[in-house]
Amino acid sequence: MELYNLKHPQQKVSFSQAVRQGLGRDRGLFFPSQLPEFDDVDALLEMDFVDRSVAILSAWLADELGRDNVESLVRDAFTFACPLVAASDHQYCLELFHGPTLAFKDFGARFLARALSQLAGDEKLTILTATSGDTGAAVADAFFGLENIEVVILYPQGRISPLQEKMFCTLGGNIRTVAVQGSFDDCQALVKQAFEDEELKQAIGLNSANSINIARLLAQICYYFEAIAQLPAAQRRQAVVAVPSGNFGNLTAGLLAKSMGLPVKRFIAATNSNDTVPRYLRSGHWQVNPTVATRSNAMDVSAPNNWPRVEALCRANSWPLATIEGAAVSERECELQLQALHQQGYLSEPHAAIASRALSCSLKGDEVGVFLGTAHPAKFKESVDELLDLDLPLPEALAQAAVKPLLSDAMAADYDQLRSYLLKPE
Ligand SMILES: *Cc1c(COP(=O)(O)O)cnc(C)c1O
Repeated sequence: MELYNLKHPQQKVSFSQAVRQGLGRDRGLFFPSQLPEFDDVDALLEMDFVDRSVAILSAWLADELGRDNVESLVRDAFTFACPLVAASDHQYCLELFHGPTLAFKDFGARFLARALSQLAGDEKLTILTATSGDTGAAVADAFFGLENIEVVILYPQGRISPLQEKMFCTLGGNIRTVAVQGSFDDCQALVKQAFEDEELKQAIGLNSANSINIARLLAQICYYFEAIAQLPAAQRRQAVVAVPSGNFGNLTAGLLAKSMGLPVKRFIAATNSNDTVPRYLRSGHWQVNPTVATRSNAMDVSAPNNWPRVEALCRANSWPLATIEGAAVSERECELQLQALHQQGYLSEPHAAIASRALSCSLKGDEVGVFLGTAHPAKFKESVDELLDLDLPLPEALAQAAVKPLLSDAMAADYDQLRSYLLKPE
C-alpha cells in the first residue's frame, strides 16, 4: 500500500512507514494513493464479520503485509460483535461498544496496537496521544503490557467523565497518563508540536495512536460493511448513516467504505455545539470557535484534524462536498432525543443520541437510518442517570476500574514541560 502526504504529495510512504510515523512532513496527513474497490459488494455482505473484514483489509494491505498476516491481525483484534439494534421507527443503532473498553475506539486501537507490534520488531517506541475521552481507554487497553512500547496519554483535566478517567489512568506499567490544564484542542496541539520536534522524535521513537493513524481508520471501515450487511436486504440501498463526530476519523472511515463500493445513500456528519464542520458545509467558511464543553465530551473538538482526509476522499471520488450532510445538535435537543429513544425502549447515551437526532430531522420517504453507537451508556452514567431517572449498573470492566486509585500526573499546557516529561524515563 502506498500513501502520500496531503501537504506534500511528493512524500510517499508505505503502510508500515505511515503507521510508525503517524504524520508526515509539516504535520501532513497520509492518504492512500489508490482506493481499492469491490466489484461484488453483495457477495461480501453475505460473509461473516471477521471473514469479510479480512477481505476488506486485504484489499489495502495484503500486497505489503501478506494475506496471512492481515488475517491474523484481524482475528486477534476483532474479538467482539457489533450488533445492529432497532432503536425506533426507521432507525437502527450499530452498537460499537461491546469491546474491552466499551467504545468504538477499541476496533481501531486494537488493530493498530497489533499492527505496530508486528511492524516495529525490536525498535523502542513511545506512543503519545491526546484523548477527549475514549481514545485513552482504548489505547491504554490495547497497548497495556506490550514490550518495547511506552504509552503517554494527555487529556484535558476535569473535562472527561470521572469514570472515563478511571478506565485509563489506573493501569500503571507501560501506560503513563497526564491531566493537562487546558482543552482537548490544547492537548492535541501539544501532541502535534512533539511530532515536529525531530530530536525528540528520534530520541524516544515517537509515535501516535490518534485517529490520525491510518491503521485505525482502515480497521474502522469494516463495521460500516457490517451495518449494511445486517439490514434486511430490501433496505440495503436505502441507508442513511449518521456519525457522531469529533475528530472526524469515524466519518473518514465511513467514506472509505463508500469509496470501496458500500451502498450508503448519504452520510450525516453530526456534531454537538462544536459545529465547525456543519457551519463549513453550509457557508463554505472554515471558522474555528473556542471549544465548548458538552455532555457528549468525546466530541468536544472544534478543530477536527481528520477533515483534510474527508475533502481528499471527496475529490478522489469526484463527490461534491454536499454528499455529506452536516447537522449540529444542541444540548437540549440531545437530551430530548435521549429521552425519546428511551421511551421507545432503547437505552442510549449523549453521543449516539446526537446522531439519532440528526437522522430524525433528515430521513425522508422509505429511507432507513443507521446511527453509530460509539459508547456504552454506562460510560456516561452521570448524564444517563440524570436525564432518564435511572441508576444504571456498571458493567464489569467499569466496576473494576472505578475502585482503583488514579495514577495520573498533572501538567500545564506547556510544550517545554511535556518535552522534559517525555525525555525523563518513568
Ligand atoms: C471519539 C468519539 C467520538 C468521535 O469520533 P471521531 O472519530 O473523533 O469523529 C464520538 N463518540 C464517542 C463516544 C467517542 O469516543
